[in-house]
Amino acid sequence: MSKKLYLETHGCQMNVHDSEKAAFALSDLGYEVTTDPTEADLIMLNTCMVREKAARKVYHRIDELKHSFRRVSEKRKGLPIFGVMGCVAQAETDRIFERSQDVRLVLGTQAIVKLPTLVEQIEQGFPRAIDIRLTKDAEFFELDAGVRQTEHVAYITITEGCNKFCSFCIVPFTRGRERSRPADKIVAEAQALAAQGFKEIQLLGQNVNSYGLSGRYHGSFAGEQESDNGVTFARLLERVATESGIPRIKYTTSYPRDFDAEVVRVMDTYDNLCEWIHLPVQSGSNRILRAMRRGYTRESYLEKIAHIKNARKDMSITGDIIVGFPGETDDDFNETLSLAAEVGYDGLYIFKYSPRPHTPAATYTDSVPEEVKTERFLKLQELQDRIQKQRYARYLGRTVEVLVEGMSARSAADCYGHTRCSKIVNFKADKQLVGQLVNVRVTEVKPHSLYGEIVL
Ligand code: SF4
Repeated sequence: MSKKLYLETHGCQMNVHDSEKAAFALSDLGYEVTTDPTEADLIMLNTCMVREKAARKVYHRIDELKHSFRRVSEKRKGLPIFGVMGCVAQAETDRIFERSQDVRLVLGTQAIVKLPTLVEQIEQGFPRAIDIRLTKDAEFFELDAGVRQTEHVAYITITEGCNKFCSFCIVPFTRGRERSRPADKIVAEAQALAAQGFKEIQLLGQNVNSYGLSGRYHGSFAGEQESDNGVTFARLLERVATESGIPRIKYTTSYPRDFDAEVVRVMDTYDNLCEWIHLPVQSGSNRILRAMRRGYTRESYLEKIAHIKNARKDMSITGDIIVGFPGETDDDFNETLSLAAEVGYDGLYIFKYSPRPHTPAATYTDSVPEEVKTERFLKLQELQDRIQKQRYARYLGRTVEVLVEGMSARSAADCYGHTRCSKIVNFKADKQLVGQLVNVRVTEVKPHSLYGEIVL
C-alpha cells in the first residue's frame, strides 16, 4: 500500500517549487501526495520567515494538525511523521524541537536532495533526522518536467541564495550564498516544459539579475555586465526566449542595483518575454536605503524606472516597500510616498517592518512604534489604491492575452487567469478553456482585477 504525504506550503513561489521537488523526491519511497492531512503518514510544512507572523504560524499549525489527528486517532496507529522544511527549518531548528516534541524531521533549504534518506532513517526507527547544512557549492535539485504539481505555469530555478545581506533580510542566512544554475540545464528544462504543454514559465531566484555573477556586480546600468561564465541574466533570458518554444516567460525577483538596461532591451526584443517587472525598492529615502544596505539610491532607482517606462512595450512595474524600518522619520516616509507616486506602480506589496533573527537590523535600537507603522502602512496603501485605479484604467477597452487558470471562486460561469503583465482577469467562459491562452477584451476595471469578455 502506498504511503501518503501531506505537504503544506507557505510563502513565495520558491517554496512552492521546493515543495514540488520534495514531493518528487519522496515518490521514490512510495509516497503519494494527499490533500487530507488526517490520512497522511508524513506531514511536511514548508515554511517562510519573511514576516514574523509567518514564522509563528508554523508552531500554531503543527498544534492544529496534531489536534485533528487526535480527533481521528482511533482509526490510526499513531501520529504521522511531522517534518519542517524551508526558512524556519533552516533558521530555528532548535526552537522547533523545543516548541514541538512531535517534529522528527528538519530539512534545511539546500537539503531536498537528502530528503528520502532522512525519511528512511526515521522509518527505520531513528527518533530524529536533521540536515541544515549550507554550502556554497550545493547541487541544484533537478525536477523532471513531467512531475510538476503546479498546473499551467511552471517554475524554473535559475539562482538560489543571496549574497546581498540587506540589513533586514534573513534570506542569506536561510538560503545560503548565491549560486547560478548552468544555463544549458535551464534551457533544457524550459524546452521539456514546452513539450509538456506548459504555456508559461517563471524563472526564479532571490536576485535573478546577478545570474552568472556570483553575487558580484561587474558593470554599469547602461553597459553590459561581465559575467563569470559568459552568461548574464540578459543573455540567459535571450536564450530561453529563443530556444524554449514557451509562449510566455516571466521572472522574479529583480534587485534594483543589478538590474540593467540590457535586460530591458532583451525584453523589448522578444515577444514571449512578458511585460512585467517586479523591482522592489523598499524605501524612497536615501538615508533608510543606506541603513537597509541596499546599495542604490532613490535617484539611481528612479533612473532605471524611467528607462523601463521608455521601453517599446508597456511594462507593468510592481514593487515591495517596507514601512517603519528602524529610524524611519516622517520625512523619510514622505520620501517613500513621493517615490511611490512618481513610479506609479501597477501593484505594491507593503510590509510593516518586523525584526528577523540573525539580521543586523534586529539589533537597531531606534524602532518605530507599532501604531506609527500602521499609520504609515495605511497611508501608503491609500495612495497606492488611488495610483492603481489609474494604472488599471488604462486597460479598459484593451484586448489582453490571458492564460486561463481555472474557474472563478465567486461565479460558476466565470473563468479566471493572468495577463502577461500579471493582472488577474475574470471573464465568462467554458471550463474547457482552462490551460489555454485566450484574448479577452477588458470591459470593467476593479481595484485589484479586470473583468472582460472573450474575443474570438
Ligand atoms: S537582495 Fe533580496 S534576498 Fe538578498 S538580502 Fe536583499 S532583500 Fe534579501
